Amino acid sequence: MKTIKELDPTSIETFRSKLRGKIVLPEDSVYNETRKVYNGMIDKHPGMFVMCVDVADVIAAVNFGRENDLLVAVRGGGHNGGGLGLCNKGLVIDLSGIKFIRIDTSNNTVRVGGGNLWGEVDHATHPFGLAVPAGIISTTGVGGLTLGGGVGHLSRKYGLTIDNLLEADMVLADGSFVTVNANQNKDLFWAIRGGGGNFGIVTSFKFQAHPVSTVIGGPTLWPIEKTEEIMEWYHDFINNVPDDLNGFIATMIIPGAPFPEHLHNKQFCGIVWCYTGEADKFDELFAPVRAKNPLFEHVGEMPYPAIQTLFDGLMPPGMQWYWRADFFNELGEEVRAQHLKFGSNIPTPLSQMHLYPISGAASRVGAEDTPWAYRDAKYAGVIVGVDPNSENAAKITDWCKAYWEALHPYSSGGAYSNFMMDEGQDRIKASYKHNYNRLVEIKQKYDPNNLFKVNQNIKPVSQYA
Ligand SMILES: Cc1cc2nc3c(=O)[nH]c(=O)nc-3n(C[C@H](O)[C@H](O)[C@H](O)COP(=O)(O)OP(=O)(O)OC[C@H]3O[C@@H](n4cnc5c(N)ncnc54)[C@H](O)[C@@H]3O)c2cc1C
Repeated sequence: MKTIKELDPTSIETFRSKLRGKIVLPEDSVYNETRKVYNGMIDKHPGMFVMCVDVADVIAAVNFGRENDLLVAVRGGGHNGGGLGLCNKGLVIDLSGIKFIRIDTSNNTVRVGGGNLWGEVDHATHPFGLAVPAGIISTTGVGGLTLGGGVGHLSRKYGLTIDNLLEADMVLADGSFVTVNANQNKDLFWAIRGGGGNFGIVTSFKFQAHPVSTVIGGPTLWPIEKTEEIMEWYHDFINNVPDDLNGFIATMIIPGAPFPEHLHNKQFCGIVWCYTGEADKFDELFAPVRAKNPLFEHVGEMPYPAIQTLFDGLMPPGMQWYWRADFFNELGEEVRAQHLKFGSNIPTPLSQMHLYPISGAASRVGAEDTPWAYRDAKYAGVIVGVDPNSENAAKITDWCKAYWEALHPYSSGGAYSNFMMDEGQDRIKASYKHNYNRLVEIKQKYDPNNLFKVNQNIKPVSQYA
């Protein structure tokens, strides 16, 4: 494998002449800004960025990377916890210039560019009273989130993001361009609904949108001492309530404004709700939550894009992030005790644990219908150590690892790939479970030399020793 530095400078100039987008090299003044990603803990030094603006740029970049035997990374929104949108010394194919959103109101579908962010999609669909199920922070990339699965406020009502993916345009490792959907290139269409960026670069996604305009949502908080009681009740409640109500449960600290001062810097067990049903039925449905006497409730009507940006201000780019994750079926006594223990010792104000329900519509898709193998798990859990100060990197990492190690024995064995760091092949296999071998076969067919390896990598058969 070569590095960019080892290439003949004339080959770089020839490549530059084929592009409409720019290339960025280490000597360029914008290089250090360009190599920043959301997670400030990531400090990679690519040899070159190709800032693609169209499909032709992506094809040229893929061919350049393959023909020169370069390490290739692909960056969508740059949110990945492990920094999988970057690589050291190799080529980064950046998609942030490939942005477009077109809504077809005849069938409520939405075409989105491979480099769009979710906030841009929400902004474009909202005036039409539509939304595509996605994650809970608006600055996340459509590309990485979708290709890994996509869990969020609408998962119980309308499924994961991949359950709403109808079609994608892709540039494959050999530089060819294909469209994949339920009738065309069906194996690839299956693989990209959870198998990540392993199979090619998606330049355009087509989603089914749904009628979501105003939601009723926001957090309820209980003192951390009540964690075990609230989690036990929550497990029964969320798994039996209609799909209209979603709520993810968390252990967290309230760091400051916009929350009232008396809550600041205290640890809580919280649930963030999002209701998409008829407004006049909400109070009755929500009565059991209020009967648990939350210390604080801030639940009300808001436009869907408002709930999608509710936490953006608390989570600006550039902070230190360390991630650990697992799926869970149960919240038994021992599990609840660990949540109380670690939730009572959160190391920094923004560090937290979330359990996202995988019930309702998300659980009614077959476990082999997409690579997302854990349709029967009740929760996708994630623990994040977060802090603006790099001096706290070890502190947040240690807490996160210890919390995860205490819970892992009670997990379903694998994790949602988008909530993982760079954790090795065994974790990837455990996370795709019975779907792993089929992913390996498809990888062998479309990317036998593993050009797209900077991801939760599915190795082609030929690369197994
Ligand atoms: C603050 C925060 C909140 C989050 N909340 C949620 C949430 O609510 N729900 C959820 O499901 N996830 C959530 N995530 C996780 C998120 O889904 C992953 O971090 C995801 O990888 C981000 O995608 P990206 O395009 O921004 O990342 P990038 O770092 O750009 O890319 C991640 C991976 O996807 C590949 N990739 C990206 N775009 C393309 C493309 N167009 N074609 C081919 N490969 C591509 C990259 O090569 C890389 O391997 C959150 C992450 C953060 C940091």
